[in-house]
Amino acid sequence: MNAPLIDPFNRPITYLRVSVTDRCDFRCIYCMSENMTFLPKKELLTLEELERVSGAFIDLGVKKLRITGGEPLVRRDIMKYFEAMGRRLGKGLDELTLTTNGSQLRRFAKQLADIGVKRVNISLDTLDEKKFADITRWGRFSQVMDGVDAAQEAGLAVKINAVALKGVNDNEIVKMIDWSHARGMDITFIEVMPMGDIGNENRLDQYYSLNQVRRDIGTKHTLTSLPLNTGGPARYMRSEETGGRIGFITPLTHNFCEGCNRVRITCTGQLYMCLGQDDDADLLAPLREHEGNEKLIETIYEAIARKPKGHDFDYSRQKVAGEMGRHMSTTGG
Ligand code: SAM
Ligand code: SF4
Repeated sequence: MNAPLIDPFNRPITYLRVSVTDRCDFRCIYCMSENMTFLPKKELLTLEELERVSGAFIDLGVKKLRITGGEPLVRRDIMKYFEAMGRRLGKGLDELTLTTNGSQLRRFAKQLADIGVKRVNISLDTLDEKKFADITRWGRFSQVMDGVDAAQEAGLAVKINAVALKGVNDNEIVKMIDWSHARGMDITFIEVMPMGDIGNENRLDQYYSLNQVRRDIGTKHTLTSLPLNTGGPARYMRSEETGGRIGFITPLTHNFCEGCNRVRITCTGQLYMCLGQDDDADLLAPLREHEGNEKLIETIYEAIARKPKGHDFDYSRQKVAGEMGRHMSTTGG
């Protein structure tokens, strides 16, 4: 029996997010620049290595696994990895889930449900086709809508994730809630974080505070706080009008790092103990150089012992502080 993973602030680490590719079929304006250079495929963890490292974390007490990216569903043969992780459900793992832009869900939703995935997060920032094209640059709105349909038809519970963007979707907040709740889906709003170079776009121009979002919602919905806490950064409220849930992820206006239960692995096997700090641990070498998992597990323990208290993102002086050089697609959000 391995000792559970507990960080220096006494936070148990029970949630792992794995970015399985840095590639994506979209180029969202807050996430990527239009011209991205992606990693050579040979530098990526193989599907077997992804399985091995995720399995080691499950052996160390991780209960929830979220597959993300880049766009996880564009990685070739990724269902093999999902299948392998599905076999760990009930055997250490309580929940297997993913965050996706929805473009490939028509192809994969049924298979995901069969594997044991119960819930998916679909990122969607607008209900306006033209704006969708502007935000994602390369995305097709109808394809994502079809993906949402496919997920629901397959019986998956869907949560919509929307990044609040000034002058882009700030006038659609209530509309998006009404749409999501009418379809029985939760919706979570996210403040844009300073992660990676986004070309000509400016973070401060994009940023729309969730304090303002909450005021906007208050004009149409009566909000009641919910005790629901997933150990993550989201805080939830219920709309009394629709009965649906609304989440708020507020790394800028209010950080909830004190309850953080998660770590992240990149597609090249770097373990990040915090989304908003640079310190990482290389898991690739212990994976490739040792047949057994002893060295890997030792490296994981050492890394968790360095997990920082929280991030330092800050826009309050009209300047971007605490910015990370890497894109969100590296660590998967
Ligand atoms: N491609 C998938 C998707 O879009 O859902 C998974 C990866 S994406 C990096 C994960 C989440 O991060 C998405 O909900 C996306 O909106 C969010 N995201 C990306 N860049 C962000 C940023 N700079 N600030 C806040 N959220 C961001
Ligand atoms: Fe791709 Fe997701 Fe980033 Fe958009 S947010 S560019 S869909 S990885």
